[in-house]
Amino acid sequence: MSKPSLLILPGDGIGPEVMAEVRKIINWYGAKRGLKFDVSEDLVGGCAYDKHGTPLHDDTMAKAQEVDAVLLGAVGGPKYDNLDFSLKPERGLLRLRKEMDLYANLRPAQCFDALADFSSLKKDVVAGLDIMIVRELTSGVYFGEPRGIFKEGNERVGINTQRYTESEIARVARSAFELAMRRNRKLCSMEKANVMESGVLWREVVTEVGKEYPDVALSHMYADAGAMQLTRWPKQFDVIVTDNLFGDLLSDLAAMLTGSLGMLPSASLGAPMANGRPKALYEPVHGSAPDIAGQGKANPIACILSFAMALRYSFDNGSEADRLETAVNTVLAKGLRTADLLGEAGVAPVSTAQMGDAVVEALNESL
Ligand code: NAD
Repeated sequence: MSKPSLLILPGDGIGPEVMAEVRKIINWYGAKRGLKFDVSEDLVGGCAYDKHGTPLHDDTMAKAQEVDAVLLGAVGGPKYDNLDFSLKPERGLLRLRKEMDLYANLRPAQCFDALADFSSLKKDVVAGLDIMIVRELTSGVYFGEPRGIFKEGNERVGINTQRYTESEIARVARSAFELAMRRNRKLCSMEKANVMESGVLWREVVTEVGKEYPDVALSHMYADAGAMQLTRWPKQFDVIVTDNLFGDLLSDLAAMLTGSLGMLPSASLGAPMANGRPKALYEPVHGSAPDIAGQGKANPIACILSFAMALRYSFDNGSEADRLETAVNTVLAKGLRTADLLGEAGVAPVSTAQMGDAVVEALNESL
């Protein structure tokens, strides 16, 4: 059987630094668990612009369409701020998401025991938290027509349109139900069916798709109430599915319940390919952090946890994903902290490479 394929796009700023640590982990899986990947590497963002004059070369785009999963570091930097909009590093990332049609954005909010004190909420509210927000990513109010700023009589009017087709709702709902089946079989759908017709349709279609998943307990909540419940008692949720706009807000809110930007992974999934795997892009939530790039200060955990998501959702290896997440927890429990996680006085930060090495060491200890 051929090896599963992985395209690595480290990108700019701290992207290559955190990706170097993921490389160590990929090598560890090959050497110690017989889990070998066909890994290729390419350019995206500012570094692609420097070499090719475009933030994503067509050949790279074609490769991304062929592989089983893409793992991206981060793109952007001040050097590219004055480029034309169409050439900016972020356009490379947007092109990947659009052409791969990645409609389901998975953002976990997971609180590692050792970081429970790091949250702005009380420890007992967040300790042990492990929820997943599924945000629709390719439709809704960010894309709907008409849009624009128009003249109406003596004043201007700004218009955006919330628009969802049944099939757009059904496919993201199915992704969320599938996810719930792998987790605790609990799904909460959030919209504003009380005031928006698109919300009424959203609720109807999710309920209809739910009939295909009788083992999943489906509930519905208005998105504003959902925001309150997420800060009041987030552990009542397991998987949440919601539209593009509400998902944008709720996933940021949920993720930050648990601490630093340097800890947050994400996955964006599309339709299943011929081999049954979904099209997939995994990336940390953070950007290229130019303020700390090149200094060995970046926290590689968000990128490492993005690879754990790839193991789980693209390579169907939940047990090895668990092993990697446990290794991260072990390292944090030992007290190792990169600079972004320092709260306690008197603790010296570890470097990006030291954090990566410590995770590899914890993986060794897990055998
Ligand atoms: P950022 O996420 O790069 O940084 C925000 C703050 O968090 C900075 O202080 C940074 O040092 C810190 N930080 C981020 N990741 C960290 C990590 N792994 N470890 C330790 N500290 C970390 O956001 P920004 O400063 O708004 O943007 C910088 C550049 O990144 C811009 O060019 C922006 O367009 C780009 N960006 C890219 C992505 C992406 O590639 N997905 C996402 C957001 C921003």
